[in-house]
Amino acid sequence: MPGVDQPSMKQLRNNVIRVGLEALYFSGAHHLLRPLLAGVGAIFMLHHVRPPRDGAFQPNRHLEVAPEFLRATLSHLRSHDIDIVSMDELHDRLVQGQFVRRFAAFTLDDGYRNNRDFALPVLREFDAPSTIYVASDFAEGTGRLWWIALEAVIAKADHIDIRVGNAALRFDATTAAAKQAAFDRLHDWLRALPGEHDLQREITALCAQHDVDMAQLCRDLCLSWDELKRLATDPLVTIGAHTITHCNLAKQSEEIAAREMAASRVRIEHALGRPVLHFAYPYGDRDAAGEREFALAAAGGFKTAVTTRPGMLFAENAGHPTALPRISLNGNYQDARILPVLTSGAATAMWNGLRRIAAA
Ligand SMILES: [Zn+2]
Repeated sequence: MPGVDQPSMKQLRNNVIRVGLEALYFSGAHHLLRPLLAGVGAIFMLHHVRPPRDGAFQPNRHLEVAPEFLRATLSHLRSHDIDIVSMDELHDRLVQGQFVRRFAAFTLDDGYRNNRDFALPVLREFDAPSTIYVASDFAEGTGRLWWIALEAVIAKADHIDIRVGNAALRFDATTAAAKQAAFDRLHDWLRALPGEHDLQREITALCAQHDVDMAQLCRDLCLSWDELKRLATDPLVTIGAHTITHCNLAKQSEEIAAREMAASRVRIEHALGRPVLHFAYPYGDRDAAGEREFALAAAGGFKTAVTTRPGMLFAENAGHPTALPRISLNGNYQDARILPVLTSGAATAMWNGLRRIAAA
């Protein structure tokens, strides 16, 4: 059973990256690497922005930052005289080769209500544009945010039973550490299942066993169409598309992947009454977005599409506007001391093994 019996690599990778970032920071190496690696700009990626919560079990914490950390990041960029631009402007500067000034764009995935309540007020303080990528089922209130549902299931359970083939597996969830371990195993198992319907079947069963209402979670967390419609009138806000169901596009047939991209765009344009020209691939890593998806986004008329592959922008990215890398503002590393490391490009260069363009 791949995923369940393997040790989780996530914690190990987090530790390696964190230690690497600190080593870079304290050695000052990021200053030495800056001229080579800083690139022409960056696209920052956020998910939830909200005040820190109490509780030891927060397995999705890497997907959330505090408003203060966002403010520190914006302040850092402003103090380095970096322009903060919309995705339209970023696209124009890339394709026109306007690199006299460095630039950064802020992007927020999924369409969470806390973006409006906590991120936008901070972004407005800096007159900073941002793009919110909406999965249309999330705005509809029918979205299946399975990673949040899994957190809710494990938070209230003291053990989790699953069936894998003929085997019955039980995970202890009596302590915060046990809950985290169960989450890591089950998260990796669910993501490794062959099809979207396998994932949906398993998470639906877990939610039913533990009385978690997935649609309610969605409505509690995500901006509705009415809320998005009001937000979209803000000149600092761009609404982009993020598929209908938030599926892993690379696991779909080409026909379904194309439909997920095109239909989510049409749905958002219809609801908001304005064009949707920018896209974010759900999950966005190499297992979720590759050459086929990059071509589909271009053929579907998107000006830009962003991945979650880490990297700064370089002039060469102009040739691949539907395969843009991003810098994650990760809730596990909310320390203002790492900001110079992030904007130097050294952190992602380390991750990419010093390859300048991961998407090409
Ligand atoms: Zn997403």
